[in-house]
Amino acid sequence: GAKMMQPGLTTADNEENSLRPQHLEDYIGQEKVKQNLKIYLEAAKRRGEPMDHILLYGPPGLGKTTLAGIIANEMGVQIRITSGPAIEKPGDLAALLTNLQEGDVLFIDEIHRLSRQVEEVLYPALEDYALDIMIGKGPSAQSIRINLPRFTLVGATTRAGQITGPLRDRFGVLLKLELYSPDELSRIIQRSAGILDQPITPEGAYELAKCSRGTPRVANRFLKRVRDFATVLGDGVIDRDVSLMSLKRMDVDALGLDELDRSLLRAIIEMYNGGPVGLETLAAALGEEAVTLEDLCEPYLMQMGFLTRTPRGRCATRLAYEHLGLKAPESASP
Ligand code: ADP
Repeated sequence: GAKMMQPGLTTADNEENSLRPQHLEDYIGQEKVKQNLKIYLEAAKRRGEPMDHILLYGPPGLGKTTLAGIIANEMGVQIRITSGPAIEKPGDLAALLTNLQEGDVLFIDEIHRLSRQVEEVLYPALEDYALDIMIGKGPSAQSIRINLPRFTLVGATTRAGQITGPLRDRFGVLLKLELYSPDELSRIIQRSAGILDQPITPEGAYELAKCSRGTPRVANRFLKRVRDFATVLGDGVIDRDVSLMSLKRMDVDALGLDELDRSLLRAIIEMYNGGPVGLETLAAALGEEAVTLEDLCEPYLMQMGFLTRTPRGRCATRLAYEHLGLKAPESASP
């Protein structure tokens, strides 16, 4: 039958869902996170308690939503998915919380974007599994307390420093996701290809992995596009040649930098003499939001050694000049 959508409740993209691992053992990479999480889950299960609240942080597309789903699955409970901006009013959050079942996982993506008002409703919910509701106005107003089922909040944010101290303190577990290595991404691509029934050679997968910016979401997106090229222009198999040809046609360079990455580096080099230049200044020069540069471009550019952050701003390294085919000044950092 038809289901009523609760305020603030969102559904995850179906295409992406089909590629999401359901169990911790199918979740590739992030070994440190997995090892600890396994123990926390096991301990909570043995005690018959819900899992403590968990904050996941790391750049977009690294598997935070996926991990939240796995946590629910491993605990044998339901997951409810929402996001900070979707919860507009305290009443929206109250509706979500009162509809949870005992032990459920509530996943709030972009949790740093909750309003102050909503955040304050969340505090007693996290600490005491309770909602404090004000009834009436003025001198006759009074607060009543409603008990909630015990639940697990899984919050996700791109940087732990983005959320307020009081909220961060209410998470029992903080887990940082790292960019993936090409080997790990290659395994993710081969797993996804298997689900999609798409033949791929290990070399074909590895070429895509190298260009995927350390990010499974990018890797899966490339796989789907390269699959199109293999179907129409090749014999249906993704091998090294098909991967290389497709990446070239998609304007992805050999190290996976896209147009925005390159313009960011070029701006530092051509407009600010290699840096240092402040993030906000750079964002204004490129007509982009500072958070876009910080969350989408910088983690990968720093991992590749193209960008450094100094107290005085961002600098392009000698490697960045070389990658763009420019001559580095003597003063450029290595
Ligand atoms: P985030 O919530 O951090 O933005 P997602 O959880 O939506 O990222 O992951 C994006 C895509 O990458 C999903 O389709 C998921 O299947 C895939 N993915 C992410 N992490 C992994 C992993 N460790 N192993 C296999 N696939 C992964």
